[in-house]
Amino acid sequence: MAQTRVNAVIIGAGAGGGVVAKELATAGLSVVVLERGKWYSAADLPSRNV
Ligand SMILES: Cc1cc2nc3c(=O)[nH]c(=O)nc-3n(C[C@H](O)[C@H](O)[C@H](O)COP(=O)(O)OP(=O)(O)OC[C@H]3O[C@@H](n4cnc5c(N)ncnc54)[C@H](O)[C@@H]3O)c2cc1C
Repeated sequence: MAQTRVNAVIIGAGAGGGVVAKELATAGLSVVVLERGKWYSAADLPSRNV
């Protein structure tokens, strides 16, 4: 089985994990995010406030 080394593994792509993943990746680190929930595309999200 192939192995990949990364700088950070983040469990959960919620409000906290998503921001941390973005900040670490922007700083140049290699990041893996593991998310158990379903995949949401931009089309699943509201486009305006109620
Ligand atoms: C109905 C509702 C409305 C809200 N409205 C607002 C609002 O208007 N403004 C505001 O600031 N806050 C709001 N909040 C609060 C806000 O959603 C939370 O404070 C914030 O999402 C917490 O972020 P978090 O990263 O800790 O957790 P979450 O955002 O819940 O993310 C956790 C993620 O980890 C994943 N996960 C969990 N366990 C595992 C595992 N073992 N393996 C892989 N993935 C895993 C989950 O699937 C999830 O995606 C609201 C909350 C609710 C419930």
